This record gives sequence, C-alpha cells and structure tokens, in this order.
Amino acid sequence: MSRFDRVVVVDWSANATPKLGADSIWIGRAGAGSGPPQNIATRLESMEALRTEIAAVLQAGQRMLIAFDIGFGFPRGFAGHLTGKRDALAVWDWLAARITDDARNGNNRFEVAAEINRQFPGIGPFWGRPNGRDLPDLPAKGSLRAGHGLDELRATEALCSGAHPMWKLYTTGSVGSQSLLGQAHLAALRHEFGDALSVWPMEGAEAPIVLAETYLSLIDPAVRLARGYPCKDAAQVDLLALAFNRADMGQLTAAPAPPDVLREEGWILGAGHGAHLLAMLEQTTLTPPRLRNDCFAMPQGVDWVPVDTALARLRDALHPLTAAEDVTVRQAGGRVLAQDLVARRANPPAANSAVDGYGFMQGALQGDGPYTLPLVAGRAAAGQPFGDVVPHGHAIRILTGAILPEGVDTVVLEEDCASDGARVAFDGPIKPRINTRKAGEDVGAGASFLPKGRVLTPADLALASALGVGYVQVHRRLRVGVLSTGDELLADPDATAQPHQIFDANRPMLLEIARRWGHVPVDLGHIPDDPAGIATALDEGARDCDVILTSGGASAGDEDHVSRLLREAGTLSSWRIALKPGRPLALALWQGVPVLGLPGNPVAAFVCTLIFGRPALSLMAGCGWQDPKGFMVEAAFTKSKKPGRREYLRARLDAAGRVEVFASEGSGRISGLSWAEGLVELPDEAASIRPGALVRYIPFTSFGL
Ligand code: AMP
Ligand code: MG
Repeated sequence: MSRFDRVVVVDWSANATPKLGADSIWIGRAGAGSGPPQNIATRLESMEALRTEIAAVLQAGQRMLIAFDIGFGFPRGFAGHLTGKRDALAVWDWLAARITDDARNGNNRFEVAAEINRQFPGIGPFWGRPNGRDLPDLPAKGSLRAGHGLDELRATEALCSGAHPMWKLYTTGSVGSQSLLGQAHLAALRHEFGDALSVWPMEGAEAPIVLAETYLSLIDPAVRLARGYPCKDAAQVDLLALAFNRADMGQLTAAPAPPDVLREEGWILGAGHGAHLLAMLEQTTLTPPRLRNDCFAMPQGVDWVPVDTALARLRDALHPLTAAEDVTVRQAGGRVLAQDLVARRANPPAANSAVDGYGFMQGALQGDGPYTLPLVAGRAAAGQPFGDVVPHGHAIRILTGAILPEGVDTVVLEEDCASDGARVAFDGPIKPRINTRKAGEDVGAGASFLPKGRVLTPADLALASALGVGYVQVHRRLRVGVLSTGDELLADPDATAQPHQIFDANRPMLLEIARRWGHVPVDLGHIPDDPAGIATALDEGARDCDVILTSGGASAGDEDHVSRLLREAGTLSSWRIALKPGRPLALALWQGVPVLGLPGNPVAAFVCTLIFGRPALSLMAGCGWQDPKGFMVEAAFTKSKKPGRREYLRARLDAAGRVEVFASEGSGRISGLSWAEGLVELPDEAASIRPGALVRYIPFTSFGL
C-alpha cells in the first residue's frame, strides 16, 4: 500500500458541552500539513475542520490517513442482531440515523444506547450514565447487566492492554460514548466523500483518504518521555501521527484477522505493532542526553576570563538538545537538518537541451559547414519527450529542457538557423554536445548534497525538490524561555509607571531575537526580585523549554537573586568575562536545563546575547557553533582603549563605507542599539584608533538578525 502524504490522529471526545484542554478533542498531524497539535472545543467544529482538510488533500492529489481514537466496531454478534448485517459500517448508518449532536456538543447518546439495549435480550450490553438520568434500559453499573449474550471485548482489544470495553458509556475511558458519537459523524463523512474515502479494515486502505481506528496508548512509553506538550492528549496525537507517518504501513495494514471478523468488529490500526511504532519514534523522543551538572565549571582561581576562552569553554560544555522530526520540504525553510540529504534522483535526471533550436548527431555533419539537414516530423519539448529515434543525418526541432531524443547529442541555437519546416540550415563548425546538459551534471543520484546541521535556505528547498526529496528530517525547534527579573520592572506596557519603575525592555528584545534565530520563543514573564517567584518561573521554564535566558540579577550583589538562587541549586558558575559592555555571565543548570543569566542593562544583555547566546543556542539547536563573520573596515572615529577587556561598540557604516560608532558608550543607552547596524570589535589588547585605521566590523546580519 502506498505511502500517505499526511497522517492525522484524532483524540475524540464525548463531552456534553464545549471544552478545551485535557480530555477534549485534539488533532495531531505529521507529514504534509504537520504543525502543533490542534485543540477543538466541539465535535461539529472538528468535523468541519476535517472536511476542509480532506477537500484540500484531494484537491492537491495527495493521500491522507485519519486515525480516530474510538472503536469502529462492536464485539461479534452485535452488528448482525442490530442491523441484520454482520457489518460494522451498517451500524454506523444505523447510528447516523438516530444520533443527534448539536453545535454545543448537546447529544442523545444515552437515549440511543438505551434504545439499543431494548433490542437485545436481558440487561445491557451498554451501561453507565450520569447520576439522576432516568433511563431504565441503561444500567448505571456494568455488574447490573445480564443475559445480553455478547462478549466484553473485540478480538483486536485482546492485543491492546488497558483497552476499555465498547459497552462502557460513562466515566474514565468511556470509549462507548465516544464511539457511538464518532461512528455517527464518520458515517456522514464516508457517504460525503464516496470512493475517495475508505474505512480500514472493512474497505481496505487504498483510497486517497483512509479512516482507521487506533489506540493512543500504543505509544505510551514515548508519551511519558515527551516534554513541552500542553497535555498528555496533545503528546499522544502528535507522536502517534509521527509514528504512523514513518511506519511501514504495509506491515500495519496487512490483514490481521479473518475478513469476517474485520468486517464485523473492525480492527485497531497498530494493534500488536506497538514496538514497531515506538521504534519509529525512537529518533524523535529519545531526548538527547542532558548536560552534565558541572559542564559550566571554570577552573579554580580564574579571575577574568578572556572572551575567546569563555567561548571555547561554552562550546565544549554544550551539545545539541533537540530531537528530530519529519517535515515536508515546503515546511523546511529555516529549519536545521538532522540528517545529511541524499539525492533521490539526478539533476538533471536526463540529458536535455539548454536552448530552443535544432538537435542532431554531431558526428553526422560532413565538413565545416554550412549544413542543411532534413527535419523529422514532430518535436521534443520539456515535458513532451520525442518517443522515436532521430535518424543519423536528420535534425529535430527541440525546445529548452526537452530530453535529447535518441540520435541527438548536439543542439544548434534557433537564432543561428534558417528553416522552411522541412529542412534546417546552419553554419559550422559545430562542437559536439554544444547547448546540451548532461544527465546528473549538477548533482548525481545518490550524492549527498546538504550536510546535517545546515539551516535550510530558499535555494536549498529548490535543490532538495529538484533532487526528488519530499520529506526531510529536521531538528525540533529549540524552545527558548525568556525571563526578566527586577523589582523596578513593569511588565505591562499599558500600565502607568511610577517614577521608580521602568518598562521591561529586555524581554521583548530577547524573545524577538530567539524568534529571528529560528527558535520558539517562550515568554516566562517578569518576576520581581523574589527568590520563590523566580524559582517557580525557572521550574516552569525547565518543564517547557530547552534553554532559559534570564536578564537582571545575575551579578554577585545583594539584590542579585537569580545568581543566588542558582548558586543554592548548586550548579551556578559565574563567569567574569573580560568584556565591555557586560558583567559576569551566570551559567547554570536548572533541573538539567541550561540557564544563561544575562546582565540587566539592555545594551549589555544585547551584546552578551549576540556574542555568547548566538553560538550557544545554535549549537543546542543542532546547527553547530556559529562564529559571526566580520570584516575589516576603515574607522571613521577616534578611540583609545586600555588592555584587558575586549570591547564591542555600537556601529554602522557611513555613506563613504567607513564605520562610525554611537556617540555614547553608556550601557543604558538603548537608542544606540537601535541606531546601530552592527558591532565594532576591539581586541583584548590596548588599541588607539584614528580615522582610517582598519577595525573589525560585524554587521547584525552576521549574527542572524
Ligand atoms: P541588574 O543586572 O539587575 O543589576 O540590572 C542592571 C540595570 O539594568 C538596572 O539599571 C536595571 O534596572 C536594568 N534592567 C534590568 N532588567 C531590565 C529590563 N528587563 N529592561 C530594562 N532594563 C533592565
Ligand atoms: Mg536587578
């Protein structure tokens, strides 16, 4: 069975009112259209979303698997007794004719279940209802049932430990309620899309759209390891979609039971294949090893660390922290490759013409020209290959991009020819193979063409597409938490500031930097200088992020609560870096998550983020350590500096192409950051710079901004 372009996994719900969050409808997607799990408050809205998605997939000529976490059938004997047909899909239609479900999730599932119970002997099979709901045919407890004559479980459920019986309508795992509602909705969907949609296993898995039932707990071990999801349901649908997208679908959909069982009871997609699905996820959820607790330690007795030493130590301490996921090439721009890309076909795939003109075998030309060759009927154009052989000594009309027909190795430019439609005349001499492109002259099939760690550019997407690569494995985006600290800060930009208060400038800046670097910015808010509050925010950051940037409170003073807290947690290393502007950089692990404690001054915070944060975050995101590219430019300023500290000046190029610096070096002067387009880097040694001297200029674009 052929591959699906996208996989959708739906965690369905029987909620009687609109609801979001845990235990509501979650939709996970992998392959084309993948994105964060989607949460939808009502069944009607979710069905609308699926309808739109199905239509778009069909329009694009793609294939989609939609796996629902409900039962598609009931234990044997049920369908036949209820509908006269031993066919689960007959039950779907029976339910679709009776179930009502409104835009606010109001529905009659308990009444319909009671109606079904009346058609069976004894008491049951369905049970469970809200307290005080007066439905004499629907027992409140499973143990009150008797004599209905049906099994508790389907054959497939025997393979899925922990699966709840389809008869249970109320409280935890009320798969029965979800299934009654789900089957009714899916019956409508099925009729609406006709042959374009099939239900597995009853109808096979070859249609463009395939519906299947699945069981989210199949991949529980991976879900337990997953981090950063809003709730368990979100992790389940996301990871199961990814696993199905990578799995061997032929293996998963091979007939798992006799056809009559499949038709009557249905089957859980993935049942008995948990190990295979987990193996598919291993590369994604096997979170890379955490950082060592002492990774930021500096040797004893070190006083001031030169910038280069600090950078080298940081580089040694860190490693990539994000696992991999599959995305389509079209979604891959700006993402970091987690694998080397290998050409699935050559570019160009076949020898073709580089121009519009006339093609022939060069060896057939006699003498130095001019030549006249008879033309064969027809032509070769891009996408319209000429199926025949061009006889020796004949020519054919050929257009740019057309595959060279057999008997053609050379093309002469249209502008250099005269033709009456039956013959073509042109001057010589003509070099063999002129105006043609060889197969694979750009990239050969099987060649490795982009290395892992590469941040994919628009041109890379063109290259990958041309080479037949549709999906790529990229690193999950690095989640970068940003936390501001300080009693003086006012987080709300609309608030009225007291004279002693200042607006939080660092957080918007750092969040935007993280975003521009291709990471996921996570706003951890602003916390006053209060250790308990900062600890809570760091806890939250450690749960949800791969790395945390804090600003403020990072020195060793009384009010420097961030460094105090980190020191108490035992992993703080305060690096006194010989750098201006900047003060100690606090480096620590909070519950295993690296924390970069930046200075509070916006200018110092900005410079430290560019110099240390940029390469460090790049490394953690999987794209390797990135040194900024600078170049030597004539200075348009005068400045002398003492030895000892490396200095970064806010700078930009003037109209003459010389580099000028901001009038003030004050580290509270945010306007200078805004004015600047780059940094001038002055060496650790003493320097005396006059206009015309060469200085190193690093534009902000070199820092990825
Ligand atoms: P600190 O590193 O906490 O001693 O702060 C140094 C200076 O930066 C103080 O003047 C703070 O008020 C200022 N500052 C700290 N955090 C921020 C922020 N998020 N936005 C603007 N200024 C800040
Ligand atoms: Mg402070």
